[in-house]
Amino acid sequence: MQIITTVRQMQQACRDLRLTGTLGLIPTMGALHDGHLSLVRRARGECDFVVVSIFVNPTQFAAGEDYEAYPRTFDDDCAKLKDAGIDLLFAPGSEEMYSPGSTSLVEVPGIGDRLDGASRPGHFRGVATVVAKLFNMVSPDRAYFGQKDAAQVAVLRAMVRDLNFLVQLVACPIVREPDGLAMSSRNRYLSPQDRRRALILHRGLQTVCELLEAGETRSDILQGALSRVFAADEGVRLDYAAIVDPRTLLPVADTAQGALIAVAAWVGATRLIDNILTENLPFESLHLRHGLMEETHA
Ligand code: AMP
Repeated sequence: MQIITTVRQMQQACRDLRLTGTLGLIPTMGALHDGHLSLVRRARGECDFVVVSIFVNPTQFAAGEDYEAYPRTFDDDCAKLKDAGIDLLFAPGSEEMYSPGSTSLVEVPGIGDRLDGASRPGHFRGVATVVAKLFNMVSPDRAYFGQKDAAQVAVLRAMVRDLNFLVQLVACPIVREPDGLAMSSRNRYLSPQDRRRALILHRGLQTVCELLEAGETRSDILQGALSRVFAADEGVRLDYAAIVDPRTLLPVADTAQGALIAVAAWVGATRLIDNILTENLPFESLHLRHGLMEETHA
């Protein structure tokens, strides 16, 4: 595994690799867990070369968010990526990524202002900007993202379509802890008590699943049931419980045509997200039970 820290070297190395095979990119902010590694394994199976980036991207954090406190576990991450058999690790510093004086940003208005974009103004501008920069540096054939960040997937699909990036986005299933909590680098912030409380996100979504399985499709009923689960714990503050079209992130009144059911909640001082996709979405190669979504924009 080669570790690269400069943009120029990264561009050269990726250009060389592309001469002999296909390239898969997995952008991350590090503090790697099995969710990240599932993307690596998927890319390993589908691409000749696998490139992972680790960059805690300052532009996607608002003032007062956890940019400084965000876990940085570089040595441990390197060991995991080496074990996973990746080819290239890109780990630039923030001055390297955003050279002094750089002011250009990528906006995805509308979709970028929904769900987490509404709760965290400017968040998706930062995400779209850094992912666009990585796409330009790496020119990957495929880029792998977790369905855990479903709104991010929707925003990046819109960006790829609008800006004609020649890359296939692959959304991979949510990897969970044995008790159902979606894996997240931020889970390590949780106190033992909050760790138990955090299961409320999964429990809320399970409640919705049971209603869906019983044939309920009305969003207001599903949303009501979801909100009631959250109302039962004072230590948890629901940020949003949304039932939306997974491509546009706009609310849908009924889930019969397929929907993204997404929650974000503050558990103590930690903001967590989780979601499910309902069945019968009208895209190809969609495996809802496992939240696997794949679409080509190349
Ligand atoms: P992050 O380091 O949090 O920016 O995440 C990097 C990538 O890993 C993103 O595409 C995430 O959606 C994905 N990811 C994070 N957690 C999980 C998980 N539990 N299951 C699947 N993918 C995940």
